Amino acid sequence: MEKTTVLYTGKAKQMWATDDPDILWVEYMDQATALNGKKKVQIDGKGTLNRQISSLLFEELNAQGFPTHYLKTLDDTTMLVKKCTMIPLEAVVRNFASGSFERKFKVEHLKPLVPAVHEFFYKSDALDDPFINNEQAIALGFADKETIDEIHAMSDRVNAYLKERFANIGIDLVDFKLEFGRLSDGTFVLADELSPDNMRLVDEATGNSLDKDVFRKDQGPLTPVYASVLKRLKESK
Ligand code: 5GP
Repeated sequence: MEKTTVLYTGKAKQMWATDDPDILWVEYMDQATALNGKKKVQIDGKGTLNRQISSLLFEELNAQGFPTHYLKTLDDTTMLVKKCTMIPLEAVVRNFASGSFERKFKVEHLKPLVPAVHEFFYKSDALDDPFINNEQAIALGFADKETIDEIHAMSDRVNAYLKERFANIGIDLVDFKLEFGRLSDGTFVLADELSPDNMRLVDEATGNSLDKDVFRKDQGPLTPVYASVLKRLKESK
C-alpha cells in the first residue's frame, strides 16, 4: 500500500489517497490546536499517542460489531481507513456539563446530565462550527431524517460502550465528539478519530482532566497525560 496525494490537511491529521481508491491513509500529526485553530502548537509525540488510543478504541468497536471506517494500523502515526463521504456534522454527546454547555447554561461544572445530551455542530471552519438543530441540518441538506436518527442511535451505543470502558479504569467520560460517513455502497460508518483530542476525560480519583483541556487551559504538558490514558486502556484490555 502506497500513499499518493494529500487530500486534506486538518488541524491534527493529514489524509492521503492511496493506490486503492477505497482506502485512505491517515497520518496523525504532532500538532495541537484550540479555539478553532487560533491557538496552535507543535507537541512532539502527540501524533503517535492519539494514533495508538484511536487504533485501540476503533479495534475494540470493530470487534463489538460497530460499523467503523478503521481498517488497520501501519506504523506509529499512520492508520488505514475505508474511504467515505463525510456527513458535515459533529455529533457531540454529553454525560456531564463541561465546555461550551457549561458556559452556555452557566451550570455547575460536571453536573450529571440525564439523559445524555446530544448536540450537532455544523463542520465549518469559516463559521466556527456553529450549533445546528435537526431541522436545520435536514433543511440545509447536510443529512436526511434517517441519517439523523442513525447518528443518534449509534452515538448512544458508542457512549454506552466508551462510558463503561473508561469507568472500568477509573475515568469519567464527560463528553465527546463523533463524526460519521458513508462508504461508496451507502453503508453508514463511524469515522474520524477516537482520542483525548475529541473527548473529555476526568480521573475519578483526582478530578484531573486527562484530555485536550490540559492544553486548552494551559494545565501543563499534554503527552504524559495522553500516555497515562493509553497505559490504563492497554493494561485493562
Ligand atoms: P464543547 O462543545 O464543550 O467545546 O465540546 C464538546 C466535546 O466535543 C469535547 O469533548 C470536545 O473535545 C469535542 N469537540 C467539539 N468540537 C470539536 C472540534 O472541532 N474538534 C475536536 N477534536 N473535538 C471537538
